[in-house]
Amino acid sequence: MITSKTSFIALIGNPVSHSLSPIMQNAALQYLGLDLIYIAIPCRDEDLELVLNSLKKINCKGLNITIPYKEKVFDLCSEISPIAKRLKAINTLKLNSEREWSATNTDVEGFVYPLKTLNLTNKQAIVLGSGGAARSVIQGLINLNSSIISVVSRNKSSLDELIKNFGNQIEIQGLLHNDNRAQNLIEEAGLIVNTTPVGMQTGTHEENILPYGETFWRSLKSKTIVYDLIYNPAPTPLLKFSAKKGCMTIDGLQMLVAQGMKSLSFWTNGLEVPFHIMNDALKKYL
Ligand code: NAP
Repeated sequence: MITSKTSFIALIGNPVSHSLSPIMQNAALQYLGLDLIYIAIPCRDEDLELVLNSLKKINCKGLNITIPYKEKVFDLCSEISPIAKRLKAINTLKLNSEREWSATNTDVEGFVYPLKTLNLTNKQAIVLGSGGAARSVIQGLINLNSSIISVVSRNKSSLDELIKNFGNQIEIQGLLHNDNRAQNLIEEAGLIVNTTPVGMQTGTHEENILPYGETFWRSLKSKTIVYDLIYNPAPTPLLKFSAKKGCMTIDGLQMLVAQGMKSLSFWTNGLEVPFHIMNDALKKYL
C-alpha cells in the first residue's frame, strides 16, 4: 500500500513511456516487501540538471538513467564506479551519505548473466554493431575470459574508436560488414551477439530482416550460440532464423532483467531478488 512513508526510485530519460523497468522493478519491490515504488519520469535535456539536483532533496532513493542521458549525467555525480568510467556510460544512481549522487553501470553484469554457466574460454566471439551496447558487451566478454573478439560494423569511425577504447585490455579484430573475411568468422564463431537495432519491432510493423542481410548469415553453424540484445518482438527474426539452423539462442529480455536486478541490489546495498520474479512480471505484461 502507498502511504505517507512510501519513498520512490525513478527512471530518467526521454522518451521513457516504452520502458519495461517500472513493471519488473515494482514486482521486485513488492516481493522484497519494501516501502518503495518505481516510476518513469520523462525529462527534457535543458531540465536534466535541475531535475537531478531536485531529486536529491526529496524522498528519492535511487535512479535509473536511460537514453539520451547515460553520458550527460557524469558531471552531476560526485562518485563514479570504475566500470561506469570505463564504459563512459551511467545507468544507475543512488544517494551517498553526503546526499550526493553515486553512479554505476549494471549493463555488463546484465549482459553476462545468461552466459555465466557457459564456457566461452578460447571460443571466437563476434559482436555486431559498434554503438553504446557493444561497449558493455565487449567488456562482458573480456570479463568472461573470451580471448578472441571480433566486431563487425557498418560504421568505420565508431568501429575504430571502439577498438581503441579496449586497446589496453585486449586486441580486437574490427571488420566492416561487407568484408569477405566475415564469412569465415561466422562459420567459426562460438558466440555471436547482435547489438544493432535491426529486427526490433518499430511501431506498426515487424521488420523481418537480419543484421547485414540474409547472405551475411549463410555460413552460420549449429554449434554457434546467437545472442540478440533486442527483446521485442520475441523471438526476433535473427533468433528465429538461428533456432531453425539448430543454434542455441538467448534473447535480450534476460539482459534487461539481470541489469535491473543489479540496479536494485545497488540501491538496497546488496538485497537480491530471484530472477524469475522480474522475468515473470515482464512475460505476463508483454
Ligand atoms: P547505438 O549506440 O545507437 O548503436 C547501434 C549500433 O547499430 C551502431 O553501430 C549502428 O551503426 C548500428 N546500426 C544501426 N542501424 C543499423 C542497420 N540498419 N544496419 C546495421 N547496423 C546498424 O544503440 P545501442 O544503445 O548500442 O543499442 C543497440 C540495441 O541494443 C538497441 O536495439 C537496444 O534496444 C538494444 N539494447 C538492449 C539492452 C538489453 O538490456 N536487452 C541493453 C542495451 C541495448 P551506425 O553508427 O552506423 O548507425
